[in-house]
Amino acid sequence: MLNDIRSLLKEIGEKLPNLKNSEQLEQFRLEYIVKKGKIQALMQRMKDVSKADKPLVGKELNILRKGTEAKIKELKEKFENTTDSSPDLDLTLPGRRRFTGSKHPVMSVMDEMVDIFKSLGFTVAEGPEIEDDYHNFDALNFPPDHPARDMQDTFFMKGGEDLLLRTHTSPVQIRIMKDSQPPIRSIMPGRVYRNEAINARSLAEFHQIEGLYIDKNVTLADLKSTIISFAKKMYGENSQFRFRPSFFPFTEPSAEIDISCYLCGGEGCKICKGTGWLEIAGSGMVHPNVLKAGGIDPEVYSGFAFGFGIERVAMLRYGITDIRYFYENDIRVLDQL
Ligand SMILES: [Zn+2]
Repeated sequence: MLNDIRSLLKEIGEKLPNLKNSEQLEQFRLEYIVKKGKIQALMQRMKDVSKADKPLVGKELNILRKGTEAKIKELKEKFENTTDSSPDLDLTLPGRRRFTGSKHPVMSVMDEMVDIFKSLGFTVAEGPEIEDDYHNFDALNFPPDHPARDMQDTFFMKGGEDLLLRTHTSPVQIRIMKDSQPPIRSIMPGRVYRNEAINARSLAEFHQIEGLYIDKNVTLADLKSTIISFAKKMYGENSQFRFRPSFFPFTEPSAEIDISCYLCGGEGCKICKGTGWLEIAGSGMVHPNVLKAGGIDPEVYSGFAFGFGIERVAMLRYGITDIRYFYENDIRVLDQL
């Protein structure tokens, strides 16, 4: 019996220093301490020990049990307090850089434009990207077979002769006019689609922001002051403007709006192609036929509309000469914008 106690003491004495963590300690505890453990098994044998030997055997067994329990308690506290200092931790290694996402440059330009127009009193409206021919063309004064339809090459939906991917955000104007009464003062940001060859200047899908203001006695002067207020906030107080006569079916008269090139200060550079001017928007007074299509009496009300290509604004903002950079999703490019 004494030999068994001493050999178990030796066994435990060899195992204890090799315990490295809480899991190994728990395995050890289950092997030796619990009711079916090896120490308890020796205690069971005490009843067979002769009366004369009992005091000595009992004493040694007690030392083994109490000593082992005390050691387990000590190791347990040690492991619990040292979980943070894993030997794998090398404090001399450089930190790992965390990459965070950011807003796409086209979206951040759009948000900036929306915020400026909101500060000028415009509300934001949206409409469907799959439109019908009526809202995209007819109601906007593009009669069937009108050559102006060729200005906007269209993606038509398969199986639905009448359905198409909207070529501009202007159909939202018709939906707003039908849904509400003047005064109307809204901007309509969104994605539009054209069946065009993709090159440095054009994509098959891009973004526009459209504006519409309808009330009594709205004039061209209101259009000019609104656009100039916006552009000064967007491009700076010193910007110069010019309005060039143009043609759009849905406005009459129509004008393209140019801003003095803020990259070269009007001197002429690569971005403005040496002219000193940048084209930023199309605009005009809402055509009476469009007001009628929206259920608004052109004898009582008048209004203006304007439209910006958001990618175009972003290209000028970031000095990019190829629109495709925005959609190739090359992080090295987008990271620099
Ligand atoms: Zn320039």
